[in-house]
Amino acid sequence: MEKEFLKEISIVIPAYNEAENLPFLCDEIKAVLKKITDSYEIIIVNDGSSDMTQESIAKLFNNDREHLVGINFRTNFGKAAAFRAGFTQAQGEIIFTMDADLQDDPKEIPHFLAKIEDGYDLVSGWKKNRQDSFVKNSSSKFFNFITSRFSRVKLHDFNCGFKAYRSEVAKGLDLYGQLHRYIPVMVRNQGYKIGEIPVHHRKRKFGKSKYSSIRFVNGFLDLLTVMMLTKYFKRPAHFFGGIGSAALGLGFIISLYITFLRLFTGSIQSRLPLFIAGILLIMVGVQLISLGLIGEMFANNYKKEEEYLKIRKIIKN
Ligand code: UDP
Ligand code: MG
Repeated sequence: MEKEFLKEISIVIPAYNEAENLPFLCDEIKAVLKKITDSYEIIIVNDGSSDMTQESIAKLFNNDREHLVGINFRTNFGKAAAFRAGFTQAQGEIIFTMDADLQDDPKEIPHFLAKIEDGYDLVSGWKKNRQDSFVKNSSSKFFNFITSRFSRVKLHDFNCGFKAYRSEVAKGLDLYGQLHRYIPVMVRNQGYKIGEIPVHHRKRKFGKSKYSSIRFVNGFLDLLTVMMLTKYFKRPAHFFGGIGSAALGLGFIISLYITFLRLFTGSIQSRLPLFIAGILLIMVGVQLISLGLIGEMFANNYKKEEEYLKIRKIIKN
């Protein structure tokens, strides 16, 4: 299944109101890539900006039609959608993503490439000395700690915008909503090898940050979605059925005990709360098991489409 790539490197840059940053960023990227290869493309995805980003991209394109690709969204669809559009368009064997705000330093590109050479499928940046506000830095640390614990993916910085992928990994990602924050979890659950390198992080010069710390609250619901879709996707009956059976079993034992009390002592004494708990547990248990079975019907519909994701290589004559 060897594929021909039209470029060696693609750099995908989501940009939402980043007009002033783009020319500097492109210059910096070109200065670094000049020493590596001429076979590259810079894909800037304008995520429905209301400033001069569109004009800025048009100008860059006119100066270097060989290396520049611009994608303009009709309105603001978010970073995940921007990645997706960029990945679809990308022709490179290695696909990078970078923030447009000059916070990521293009000088790190060779370090990412070296790590990919070492056999990693995805290399994620780690903003070790993050140059953002205190609140943002600490909430991000907390978010990363929880995500790492939950998902068992050993990374320090899940949501770093600076990443390098082998093409097939980026193209196989099914991103929507805010799920870009969990890319490493999704990629790991597909069986790919993930690495991390510390990257130089700089202060934002022009424009404003688009994300506040509030985002982390919804973030945990996204983590549940990702775990559900990637880990339990193929066996929802086990996930819901497991919890459901435990609840049902406990409820059954409690009800048995209450029945025993009533039969042999004539009353359930002061066990009314326990009685209610037993009944509730049985009901919840049955509901969860049914939910798992319904989920299993969905999974059954999807399973065929997933097959190609599992195979790294087929060796045959
Ligand atoms: N971004 C985007 N669409 C959005 C929000 C942000 O394309 O709806 C881009 C933004 O232009 C930048 C990157 O995502 O290139 C990271 O955004 P930002 O720097 O605001 O986030 P922070 O670094 O503050 O977490
Ligand atoms: Mg930023």
